[in-house]
Amino acid sequence: MFNKNLVVTLILLVFMSGCATTKAPITGRTQIMLISPAQETSMGEKSYKDVLSKSKLSKDKKQIDMVNRVGKKIAKVAEKLYQVNYNWEFNVIQSKQLNAWCMPGGKVAVYTGIFKAIENEDQLAVVMSHEIAHALARHGAERMSMAQISSIGQALGSMAMNSYSPKYTKVFNVAYGLGSQYGVMMPYGRQQETEADTIGLYLMRDANYDLSEAVKLWKNMKKLSGPSQPEFLSTHPSTDRRIEDIQKTITLIK
Ligand SMILES: [Zn+2]
Repeated sequence: MFNKNLVVTLILLVFMSGCATTKAPITGRTQIMLISPAQETSMGEKSYKDVLSKSKLSKDKKQIDMVNRVGKKIAKVAEKLYQVNYNWEFNVIQSKQLNAWCMPGGKVAVYTGIFKAIENEDQLAVVMSHEIAHALARHGAERMSMAQISSIGQALGSMAMNSYSPKYTKVFNVAYGLGSQYGVMMPYGRQQETEADTIGLYLMRDANYDLSEAVKLWKNMKKLSGPSQPEFLSTHPSTDRRIEDIQKTITLIK
């Protein structure tokens, strides 16, 4: 359908222009990035408002307080370490889903369902720092950029992305973990998951949380996940592999 040489040329152009690549925090991995942080943040804010307006918010004061307390601690570390200037928000959504996510710009949602897997505040910190790590490393924008490159043939005429087109809003939401709500599953790649685990552990360490709780949390998640994998778990990497990797990172950074 599209001209192969043209695609190769475009991909090369993307790599050559410095603004189209970034480096992930901590790991320093090079990422292709066709979306600006400003674009990403405005989409994050819009999606967050949209989801909250359609969701039932929890009234459980204990859980709400805990999410805010942990969120603020992690946010402080993230701001100091990565110089992000987010307009943080933390909300608890009433839902059975074992899910949590952080939109670009620090818009965090934790679903009440995830408290089934959480035994203490440190374990909540594992979940939240993992999700915040995805946002800090701009994983959603990275996935959108990749999707754009793969569909570049059809998008040739309009390289400049319209942030508010319904098509991209959907991809965006799915990229940030709202898959089941939109009927599409687009889990983060294995590399992004491992990266979020690693960055998350650094955030936890600097916020003075107990790193060993990360291993316990993932064991709880494994027990609870059963036949249908919760979104938060994603399909890659396998939980056993993930626990092993987390243990290795903990030994390294302690
Ligand atoms: Zn993840």
